[in-house]
Amino acid sequence: MTHRRLASVLIANRGEIACRVIRTARRLGMRTIAVYSDADRDALHVALADEAHCIGPAPAADSYLRIDRILEAARASGAESIHPGYGFLSERPDFADACAQAGIVFVGPPASAIRAMGLKDAAKALVAEAGVPVVPGYHGARQDPDFLAAEAAAIGYPVLIKAVAGGGGKGMRRVEGPEGFADALASAQREAQNAFGDPRVLVEKYVLSPRHVEIQVFCDAHGNAVHLFERDCSLQRRHQKVIEEAPAPGMPDEVRAAMGRAAVEAAKAVGYVGAGTVEFIADGREGLRVDGFWFMEMNTRLQVEHPVTEAITGHDLVEWQFRVASGETLPVDQAGLAIHGHAVEARLYAEDPDHGFLPSTGPLRALRLPEGEGIRVDTGVRAGDRVTPFYDPMIAKVIAHGATRDEALDRLAGALGRTLVAGPKSNVAFLKALAEAEDFRAGRFDTGFIDRDLGALTAPSPHRDAAIRAGIRVLVARENPARAGSPWDAADGFQLGEARHQAFPFVLEGEPAEAGLRWGAPGLNVEYGTDGPEPASLTVIDAPNGVLVLAEGRQIALAPPDPFAVDLDHIDQGGTIKAPMHGRLVAVLVAPGDKVVRGQRLAVVEAMKMEHALTAPSDGTVAEVAAEAGQQVAEGARLITLTTEDAA
Ligand code: ADP
Repeated sequence: MTHRRLASVLIANRGEIACRVIRTARRLGMRTIAVYSDADRDALHVALADEAHCIGPAPAADSYLRIDRILEAARASGAESIHPGYGFLSERPDFADACAQAGIVFVGPPASAIRAMGLKDAAKALVAEAGVPVVPGYHGARQDPDFLAAEAAAIGYPVLIKAVAGGGGKGMRRVEGPEGFADALASAQREAQNAFGDPRVLVEKYVLSPRHVEIQVFCDAHGNAVHLFERDCSLQRRHQKVIEEAPAPGMPDEVRAAMGRAAVEAAKAVGYVGAGTVEFIADGREGLRVDGFWFMEMNTRLQVEHPVTEAITGHDLVEWQFRVASGETLPVDQAGLAIHGHAVEARLYAEDPDHGFLPSTGPLRALRLPEGEGIRVDTGVRAGDRVTPFYDPMIAKVIAHGATRDEALDRLAGALGRTLVAGPKSNVAFLKALAEAEDFRAGRFDTGFIDRDLGALTAPSPHRDAAIRAGIRVLVARENPARAGSPWDAADGFQLGEARHQAFPFVLEGEPAEAGLRWGAPGLNVEYGTDGPEPASLTVIDAPNGVLVLAEGRQIALAPPDPFAVDLDHIDQGGTIKAPMHGRLVAVLVAPGDKVVRGQRLAVVEAMKMEHALTAPSDGTVAEVAAEAGQQVAEGARLITLTTEDAA
């Protein structure tokens, strides 16, 4: 057979996966075409591509999910093929169909295969027929609560209710016993209706001590099919993968062979072509066993965690995708594939582990991604880019490869230790704690591992107070360059009061806080929290409103005091405005009898070369001014009295 390599590809995606696809396409000599939303005009994937087309406003529904606009960009650019990446349109059979109708090669499976695997219940029935084990359960059409409750009882508790149209863990409920079934069913159906517009569920046995083990499969259009071994994705939080590895720890050869065979059978059952992943759930109570794994679903696309498979097999899966899409046969057969060493991937996210892992957005003020032996980083952002609320807030995937699992995990932990993300909060410290967790290292884990150990995995660093002290030092130096070394160097006769000690109010993560500053022969000593050594890694970065302290993968934001907040603290019921600290009154901006409005600046106090504006807490009239500009004032000294509207 003769094959013509595809000359060009449009990547219908963004972020790290768009960049990753572009890299291989470029190496294969293909012209690369990016699409982008208004929010991604300056994104890395746009910069990397040979050309780029805007496809609409920021919300994905108006851009990355618009089949018409993407096909328009493909026609305008003369793209010969479209790679969908993962997410967005990658598992939409109508998109694959639309590409075919437009005469563009869809780099993915036939629409019929996507359709067949799209609904969990139908997919299960189909692969069960092909002899693949599926989790015992009810995967049928009846949805009345009494019937499903009876099925649950027959399956035996605990059971798992799953949305038929499910994905991303939505519409999923574990039920411990009959008493909780009705409520769990109603809420799963509600969630499924909201998320997928389809309330139907299936009920299956909840596998105990579950391990998520998936098989990478590849098929060409000539009837060849292979598997590229397994990935273990059991480290999950709320059913979402956090760390993935290949091969699976403790995988016996015969179980690997049986799973691989089952996965290839499942793919063949739907006439699969291209890259796909067959996900199994395994009972991990007594290790992985030939009779202890069941089909969950097939993902008909490239997966986020494909790099660990690339690392252990030495094959570029995106290259394979292009070869298969252009009609070539698979480059190797099963016997030609082998596992080399061990690989682990961690998903680095802009999210806040201290607040329920909520996405954390904003500009990346600094970004240092790790390099090193056996380390690969796939990213779609650079320092200065903005993490927006519109898309998945993944910053990068950090992949470590080593001769052994221990070496791979050591390299991963080391790489995470060298990673720095400033601006949005990130999960670096959490990932590093996972890579170092004793039970995980020993291979004692299942999908409940993270949730069980969440407290320890997200525990605050014992070096937090020391990190804050370091941040305060920078904050003081920045606001007060002449004074940072020693107050005695300065020639302006500035006095800090007899104790050479000063209260230093500041804002810690948005909350008012206070430290002590003490000046001595060696310079400034900051008093805050519990004494202790500084963290192993410490970087302080300037931010427009203060500093960001990066310590051991965690970020702490410090800011100078908010003048409004200070004022409110120093105003009593009678409308007396007091000096917030020892210092010099540099300006008095009002006189008795003046009418003032809330927020108006009344006076300015300077301490530590920082100016603190004192503003009116409410509308009112100046009754008295008790100090003069130029005068030294003590903390708490009465400066101005207002007659406020409420007091009057
Ligand atoms: P989704 O498509 O919503 O991500 P999946 O069917 O892929 O849902 O399941 C996601 C995760 O839920 C699995 O990785 C596993 O951790 C857990 N899970 C799924 N089915 C079972 C089951 N029968 N027993 C125990 N855990 C399960």
